[in-house]
Amino acid sequence: MSDRLVSRRAVLAGAAAAAGVAAIRPQSPPPAAGAEAAGPSGDGLGQILAWDAHTHFSAVTGTIPQRVAQLLKYADRVGVERIVLFMGTSFIAQPTPEQFRQQNDEVLQGIAVAPDRVMGFVYLNPRYQRESLAELDRCVRDGPMLGIKLWIAIECSQPELDPIAQRAGELRIPVLQHAYWRTWGNLPGESAPPDVAALALRHPEVSFICAHSGNDWERGFRAIRAAKNVWAEVCGCDPTAGMVEMAVRELGAQRVLYGSDAGGRSFASQLAKVYSADVPVASKRLILRDNLRQLLAPAMKAKGMKV
Ligand SMILES: [Zn+2]
Repeated sequence: MSDRLVSRRAVLAGAAAAAGVAAIRPQSPPPAAGAEAAGPSGDGLGQILAWDAHTHFSAVTGTIPQRVAQLLKYADRVGVERIVLFMGTSFIAQPTPEQFRQQNDEVLQGIAVAPDRVMGFVYLNPRYQRESLAELDRCVRDGPMLGIKLWIAIECSQPELDPIAQRAGELRIPVLQHAYWRTWGNLPGESAPPDVAALALRHPEVSFICAHSGNDWERGFRAIRAAKNVWAEVCGCDPTAGMVEMAVRELGAQRVLYGSDAGGRSFASQLAKVYSADVPVASKRLILRDNLRQLLAPAMKAKGMKV
């Protein structure tokens, strides 16, 4: 045991406290919808019960009910009330219709485990337009899902996206699009923030979520700034100081969303970005829950769900 290890532990403990995760209650019961627990942060925020815009079945194991139970166990520890879940137990970049239907069936099973806490987005492949639109109807119009998830099948600025975006507008649901800027060049079909902005500008009536804010977020926030119907989602990269502050500065707190990308990332590390940010308490409340709630409210109300 070295002094270095001890001091590193002290630093991590301090970081956890700053992140508001000192309030971990391992066996806490699922919180009531819309409730707020009294928190220890002392900054007036309390421990708001967050809504997470971005989670997966990865890094948890077993059957679908077992995986959902694990996700919610970890969510409970850090005050996450609801999670948006999408894609199945495997990650398929270029899914066939049969594959995305199967992936969405897994998410439907996950929602059924805890319908008051798990919210699904339907995973589609715009290269299969007819089948994607049918799947959208199956899972959103006729099912419990509340949004669309698109990954790396095709750059989202391409015209193949237009029928899906238009249908999202009709159903009044958001489109969450993965967007990255990789230092060694993007994957085939992978969107970057300007692709999201281009699509959003063609569909001003639809709300788009720029997942990861491009990962290279300093450029990402600026790339989507002019497209007012794009929300920046801050998940999936290291909890770098200054990220949320810049998002609020460039876009306004109303356009920033907390997400974790669990299990690719932990709930706690991504919550820390928001809890530790030097922004007003009212902004953190918007980012952690209220902005996402507002985006999902039309579809939730249409389905008779409690918002
Ligand atoms: Zn993800």
